[in-house]
Amino acid sequence: MPLDEFNVIQQYFVAGNKSTADDGVMLGIGDDTAILKAPSGEELLFTTDTLINGVHFPEYTPPRAIGFKSLAVNLSDIAAMSGKARWFTLALSLPESDPQWLKEFSEGMFELAHKFDVRLVGGDTTRGSLSITISVIGTTEEHRSVRRDTAKEGDSIFITGEPGLASIGLSIPDNEAALSDNDKKRCLDKLNYPLPRLQEGEFVRDFASSMIDVSDGLCADLSHITNASNCGAILFTAALSNILPASFGIATDSALDAILYGGDDYELLLTVPAEKSVELKKSWPASFATLLCIGKISAGKGIFMQDETGNQQELSIAGYNHFHG
Ligand code: ADP
Ligand code: MG
Repeated sequence: MPLDEFNVIQQYFVAGNKSTADDGVMLGIGDDTAILKAPSGEELLFTTDTLINGVHFPEYTPPRAIGFKSLAVNLSDIAAMSGKARWFTLALSLPESDPQWLKEFSEGMFELAHKFDVRLVGGDTTRGSLSITISVIGTTEEHRSVRRDTAKEGDSIFITGEPGLASIGLSIPDNEAALSDNDKKRCLDKLNYPLPRLQEGEFVRDFASSMIDVSDGLCADLSHITNASNCGAILFTAALSNILPASFGIATDSALDAILYGGDDYELLLTVPAEKSVELKKSWPASFATLLCIGKISAGKGIFMQDETGNQQELSIAGYNHFHG
């Protein structure tokens, strides 16, 4: 039987929500607003993202993945500022109050919330086409956030994890034959359950000169750093070619295309002054996502790929064609 709005909130969003004495929640779900207490001396980071059915995820996406990913993409923005995620709100528009859908959606969302100790403190529940808006508040020590407009010429460019997998996962229904079952699962997990790089983002605070999370594609998001920082970038073909193993059975061009232009990675892209790069690599915890140096910041404009012989080719920020042009 469909539930009314207040039962939905109570059964799925109050019941599944954890709380602890020191989570800063003075007043949580139930009143007109939440009351939150930030640790003294810390700044607030605030971000919001909407996910719309059929636009940000395919209609066949499992509800658990929709819940997980809606929170993950927001936590990724906090990670990209080197923040600690603390509280979030959920504005949910649903065509119907289907108990099974709500159960799976809320379990996916709380699985991630509990993993990173982030508290749901309010929201809104309405009837309409399926869309999910989550807002997250994070904190950092004063003046310690890592921004995107502070990269400098000569800085090394690093990326976490395996960019490209999510976009390959998205193309799987059209491309069944190309991948082994195991690799297919890896790509679909990366697409549906991206792990926000919160620990990694906090860790790089003492090293990074600039940072962004990769949601629109490595090249597009790198251009946000270079534009904001008034510089250019050179990417090393050899380093990028190592990201997706040959065992993936994907042609080198398609793999590079996925890495450079595929969206939905939610990896961190950061720049590090040359003198700090070695120390960062040396101190990088084994439990973290991998960290790979893929290029360097240049003085000129534009983003270039450079092969082992030193030949450079300018990349199109927007798409694939120019790159192969
Ligand atoms: P109001 O009319 O004051 O906006 P609502 O009836 O919309 O209050 O919501 C009642 C309470 O439940 C509020 O505290 C609100 O933050 C919370 N809430 C509503 N929807 C959700 C949701 N999807 N997840 C978490 N909290 C919610
Ligand atoms: Mg309301």
